[in-house]
Amino acid sequence: MCLPEDKLWVEKLLPHKRAEVAPVDRQSEGITRTMTNTSDATPIPRRHPTRTVTLGGVPLGSAHPIRVQSMTNTDTRDAEATIRQISELVEAGCEFVRLAVPDENAAQVLPAIQSAAPVPLIADIHFDHRLALKALEAGLQGLRINPGNIGSKTYVDRVVDAASANGACIRIGVNGGSLEKELLQKYGGATPEAMVESALGHAVLLEKRGFGNFKISLKSSSVPRTIAAYRLLAARLDCPLHVGITEAGTLLRGAVKSGVGLGILLWEGLGDTLRVSLTADPVLEVRAAWEILRSLGLRQRGPEIISCPTCGRTEIDLQDLAEEVERRLAGVTDVFTVAVMGCVVNGPGEAREADIGLAGGRDCGLIFSRGEILRKVRGRDELLPEFMRELEAFLVERRAGGDQ
Ligand code: SF4
Repeated sequence: MCLPEDKLWVEKLLPHKRAEVAPVDRQSEGITRTMTNTSDATPIPRRHPTRTVTLGGVPLGSAHPIRVQSMTNTDTRDAEATIRQISELVEAGCEFVRLAVPDENAAQVLPAIQSAAPVPLIADIHFDHRLALKALEAGLQGLRINPGNIGSKTYVDRVVDAASANGACIRIGVNGGSLEKELLQKYGGATPEAMVESALGHAVLLEKRGFGNFKISLKSSSVPRTIAAYRLLAARLDCPLHVGITEAGTLLRGAVKSGVGLGILLWEGLGDTLRVSLTADPVLEVRAAWEILRSLGLRQRGPEIISCPTCGRTEIDLQDLAEEVERRLAGVTDVFTVAVMGCVVNGPGEAREADIGLAGGRDCGLIFSRGEILRKVRGRDELLPEFMRELEAFLVERRAGGDQ
């Protein structure tokens, strides 16, 4: 047996692990309560130190909570549809919303959109400095623009000075797919080094003008390349980082790819805002972003819904049931754990850390809390309504006790 060696190996590893992931002050990370199945000793990532910048009055950087972003996919010129989608995103937990400003007509409706927006907006501008100026005039507090791409120094200075006068934040957004030709030639492709050099080139233009209220993103559709690029940049600059994997794909593929890429970066402490890019409804991007933050213990919002993978003992349609519970709890922001389990024999025990849960059986179901049976429900159709009644009572009691 190799137990003695295993033990030695573990002992060697542990001090190193502890040093890397020393717990940080949860309050300063915006974690007002931990998940119920997470003790205070559970390690969470140490944030890579950055300076603080502000976006629409919201401070950003390693001393502040990691913020969730998304982007509208409506036609910005359709102000009504765009405002509606912004509101859906905010309801799902989006804290900054970016919107494309492709032309003059889109710029014209920005004042109306801005006046209806409950969170800071970021105008996404490619090349045309006049659109950036219009966005700032409309009161938008964020610009995503690469100064090196907007032409002469005069144009750059105009945009930077207007951003400065309006207290706006600029994101330098380097994308592996649209790097400068010279850098592609110099490095033989969109390598991490090429992406970082591109970002530094844009940052120099801002800093030369005395502008420091910026953050940087280095997105690529390759997870390893993106991770390498952020690591390189973080070693060079102390500005906040917006992290994301671009063109990640459709819902399942994109969520997995983003979960892996952003999960690694965030675990290394890299990332002060994030966007999950999906070929899907942007509301799902926001949900996925929160799941990533929640899974690392970085921030919590809404219930954690756990459900078993089902097996030969399952006697109910658990997939439908779990999806329905998820749908019904979509707007709840209280932090607690819900379990949806597929059998009455093992369900309550397997989910004993859940604040409240249900386990379905052939003709009956169980509602339980922390492994203890609260009640038995006869009849399959009664299980979900009865569970929702118990859950509402649980929430009322919890809110009355100020335990949220
Ligand atoms: S809770 Fe029951 S149905 Fe679900 S995986 Fe465990 S044993 Fe199978």
